Amino acid sequence: MRILVIEDEVKIAQFIKRGLKEEGYAVDVVNDGEEGHFLLSSNEYDAIILDLMLPKVDGLTLCRTLRTEGNQTPIIMLTAKDAVKDKVKGLDSGADDYLPKPFAFEELLARVRVLLRKKDGRVQTQLKVDDLSLDLLTHKVIRADREIDLTVKEYALLEYLMRNAGNIVTRTMISEHVWDINFDTFTNVIDVYINYLRNKIDSGFDNKMIHTVRGKGYLLKK
Ligand code: CA
Repeated sequence: MRILVIEDEVKIAQFIKRGLKEEGYAVDVVNDGEEGHFLLSSNEYDAIILDLMLPKVDGLTLCRTLRTEGNQTPIIMLTAKDAVKDKVKGLDSGADDYLPKPFAFEELLARVRVLLRKKDGRVQTQLKVDDLSLDLLTHKVIRADREIDLTVKEYALLEYLMRNAGNIVTRTMISEHVWDINFDTFTNVIDVYINYLRNKIDSGFDNKMIHTVRGKGYLLKK
């Protein structure tokens, strides 16, 4: 899952980025509303963390613009103010949630998870495909009663494949949702990570779940 953080306070932006990356999210950070709008018009994100007070284009204006343009990406709005008026304005402008600063990172994480659940249109804390299960809260991955130890990036890739189980995902889709904007599309990093996952998820099982679709991409299925 890839998240765009639009926040002009560099320390806060880096704090959020580091925390989200540790949880396996791909994170891009920009420091003003204009650059945020530019990235959102050329990339696909799963969620946006948007500061209210921003240089060039402020959070409320950007939020309204995005919704007017038909962009439905879930938005959490951050603000230093805890005034009811600002909260209402934020929600009215099309934000999905609102978090006053200072906040505990755990709370931001929980709210991000809620938004990503909403995006799927159903409440879920676990992804399950056949005998493979992934817990979105604890990050525990189990196949046939065997717990599988994954790195943060392997986990993020598996989560994306499982969310799209039964459908082909292209390398471009994977790079857009699992890696950040600095990802070099001319490397074979994705194939390398798919192989790592295969070794951990499929080896030792007759029933292979991760499939290569020639010329197209990958597919996770029963
Ligand atoms: Ca600010």
